[in-house]
Amino acid sequence: MDDVVSRASALRAYAEETATCERCALAATRTQVVFGSGDPDADLMFVGEAPGFHEDQQGVPFVGQAGKLLERLLGEIGLQRSDVWITNVLKCRPPGNRDPLPDEIAACEPHLFRQIELIRPKLVATLGNFATKLLSGSPLGITRVHGVEQEVALGGLRVTLYPIYHPAAALYTPAMLKVLEEDFRRIPGLLGRAEAAGPADAPASPQVSEPVAPDSEPAAQLGLF
Ligand code: URA
Repeated sequence: MDDVVSRASALRAYAEETATCERCALAATRTQVVFGSGDPDADLMFVGEAPGFHEDQQGVPFVGQAGKLLERLLGEIGLQRSDVWITNVLKCRPPGNRDPLPDEIAACEPHLFRQIELIRPKLVATLGNFATKLLSGSPLGITRVHGVEQEVALGGLRVTLYPIYHPAAALYTPAMLKVLEEDFRRIPGLLGRAEAAGPADAPASPQVSEPVAPDSEPAAQLGLF
């Protein structure tokens, strides 16, 4: 319990520190840093791409249409936003919602890894291509790897990484929504398995990656997806 309290207070302090971040040029165009939200002791973390217009205005990730879908999918597996931690690869909105640039991802990466270290999630669901490629360390895109869990070492922890489609992609593509719903339904089982595996302190093993999903796929995702 003490550990939980001290990690939560370290996370709060880190969020305050991050609020004035100037590690990349997005500091000049953002309204505010969107650090992340939810349970600071969550076993399940979601990592999206970057804040959009509404997130930049409100300072909370996934509050727009994609967020509504994420909330519905969570509800269908008996969870609410407050049960999980939700964050993004980038903590600041790219102008016009353009794709994150490599130098922005590199500059922002320490914020994500610090969150993982402090929250100590057991299962990290990456939403779409940017989060999946960053945290798997593999160039394989989400269309190839969605729905296939892999054990990785992140922030000194053993974590199950679970790539799934980005909800924004699924909003307008029914075939992708169906796949996202199917992949989402596996989350409770994966969480149970990860929790049963015990403490998350990682053996010093490298990232394991490159599992490949079965063939039947909707059209390949581009950019964010
Ligand atoms: N899309 C994202 O990737 N993140 C958000 O916070 C909102 C939309």
